[in-house]
Amino acid sequence: MPLVSLRDVAKCYPSPQKGAPPISAIDGVDLDIEAGDVYGIIGYSGAGKSTLVRLINALEPATSGSIVVDGTEITSLPESKLRELRLGIGMIFQQFNLFNSKTVKRNISYPLEVAGTPKAERQARVAELLDFVGLTDKANSYPDQLSGGQKQRVGIARALATSPRILLADEATSALDPETTQEVLSLLKRVNEDFGVTIVVITHEMDVIQTLATKVAVMENGKVIEQGEVFEVFSAPQHAASRKFVSTVIKGVPSPAELAVLKERHEGRIVTLSFRDGDVDQAGVFLTLAEAGVAFELVYGGINDIRGRAFGHLTLALRGDDAAIDRALTGVAERATVTEAR
Ligand code: ADP
Repeated sequence: MPLVSLRDVAKCYPSPQKGAPPISAIDGVDLDIEAGDVYGIIGYSGAGKSTLVRLINALEPATSGSIVVDGTEITSLPESKLRELRLGIGMIFQQFNLFNSKTVKRNISYPLEVAGTPKAERQARVAELLDFVGLTDKANSYPDQLSGGQKQRVGIARALATSPRILLADEATSALDPETTQEVLSLLKRVNEDFGVTIVVITHEMDVIQTLATKVAVMENGKVIEQGEVFEVFSAPQHAASRKFVSTVIKGVPSPAELAVLKERHEGRIVTLSFRDGDVDQAGVFLTLAEAGVAFELVYGGINDIRGRAFGHLTLALRGDDAAIDRALTGVAERATVTEAR
């Protein structure tokens, strides 16, 4: 059974203008998050990502649909039970949300104090977490004395204090520079791998998904428009919005502007071949072209690696008899996806 399962979930907010129709923030979402997943949810601002997180965390009720978390249908739970449920879900935020008047160790200890954990146990857990996030020497510092990356590491330690099964990360690296982002992402990877914590990552940055996630859901206008294994979505995005996100991180696919330049610079027909590991026979592709008497020149390309699996794109300028090119491309299409620039 999935750890988090949403079925036909909707969330409407009343419109701020009197008489106007309600705002639909989430609309008919189905989503299954398995234990151990690092599940990325990507979408532009306003797509409904944060609302989705608040529903999973039971900070707000859904308007309709079913949300099952760890075997419990949460849409009908009373507030007292929801509090218990939230203890099993850690959260980290873009602006870290630390208590500036408390030391690092008091910040981390806080959820344990709320949960009524005895002092000795709290101290041991805080020491363990400080060690895990590499901030033992900052135990008595205040958040203002820390860098952004260090603050987020405190946020992660605090979120893990009560040993949650799920960690929700809402734009957790959006306020950090690229290098610090990578540090925080590798820490989150360890949280998943060492502690088996299921992580839901909300982001508008595709490289966060590429680095960290195993699965991804793409959201637009409150709907999940595409979901699946990261490799599948990255190597063959089905929806225009997904293609746009993927194009921000994928190497080798020429943009429309780049295609226009290629067409100007090179004689012949410009064709992009997309390969995926396992079904690649590049030698076969080139042999097919050569045997058909088609001259080819490699004009653009790149190979991508997603968690040890490769896919790539090669753009060729093809010269020769049009009918021969068409015949050759039919053969090539058995080995790779063929897209011709018109
Ligand atoms: P994202 O996190 O992808 O940027 P949100 O979940 O914040 O998207 O918002 C989705 C939509 O719901 C937006 O149109 C937003 O204006 C609306 N919305 C979110 N929260 C509220 C609220 N509390 N009241 C009214 N409208 C809201």
